[in-house]
Amino acid sequence: MITRSAYREAQRRAVDLLRRTGLALTADELESVAVADFGLGELDETGAQILTLLDTPESAVKLIVLFPGQTLPEHRHPPLGAYPGKAETLRCEVGAAYVYTEGEVSTHPACLPPDGRRATYTVWHETALTPGRQITLAPNRRHWFQAGHDGAVVWSFSSRATDVADVFTDPEISRETVVRD
Ligand code: ZN
Repeated sequence: MITRSAYREAQRRAVDLLRRTGLALTADELESVAVADFGLGELDETGAQILTLLDTPESAVKLIVLFPGQTLPEHRHPPLGAYPGKAETLRCEVGAAYVYTEGEVSTHPACLPPDGRRATYTVWHETALTPGRQITLAPNRRHWFQAGHDGAVVWSFSSRATDVADVFTDPEISRETVVRD
C-alpha cells in the first residue's frame, strides 16, 4: 500500500532521473510513469518506477527507474501455455544497476537485499551494468537487481510482457500496487 502523495512524489523523482537520459520523452509519457511497491509498502527499499513505451502481443519496451539503493525484487517470468515466458534484455542508460541471476555465486556482491528479506533472495551471480552495458535473461530464470548510489535508468527490451504472471520468490510480494488517498 502506498499513499497517493507518496506515489506522486515517486513519480516526480523518477521523472528527474528520466530527464538525465536526454531521451525524447513526451509530457504524456512522463506523466504515465507507474510506481510499483510490490505490496510491501517499503518503496525506497523494494520498488520500481516503470515507463512503458511499447506493449504489444509480441514485444515490450520499458524504462525502469530505480532510486539509489532501491531493489527490484527477485522474480522470474514463467511459461504460459505455448509461450515460453518473457525473455528480457536489461540495458543501463543512466547510473549503475547490479543484476543478480542464476549461475556462479559472486563472493563479494556489491549489493545486499533489503533488510529482513535476505532469505527471499536466492541467486547471486552479479553483473554490473553501467551505461551502455546490457544483459539478456532467458525466460523463467530468476533475477533481481538493485541501483547503485546515484540510482539507475534501465531499458527493458522483451518479448511479450506478462507482468501479472511474474513469480516472485518472496511470498509476501504482490505485483499489484494499491494506492490509498
Ligand atoms: Zn524481470
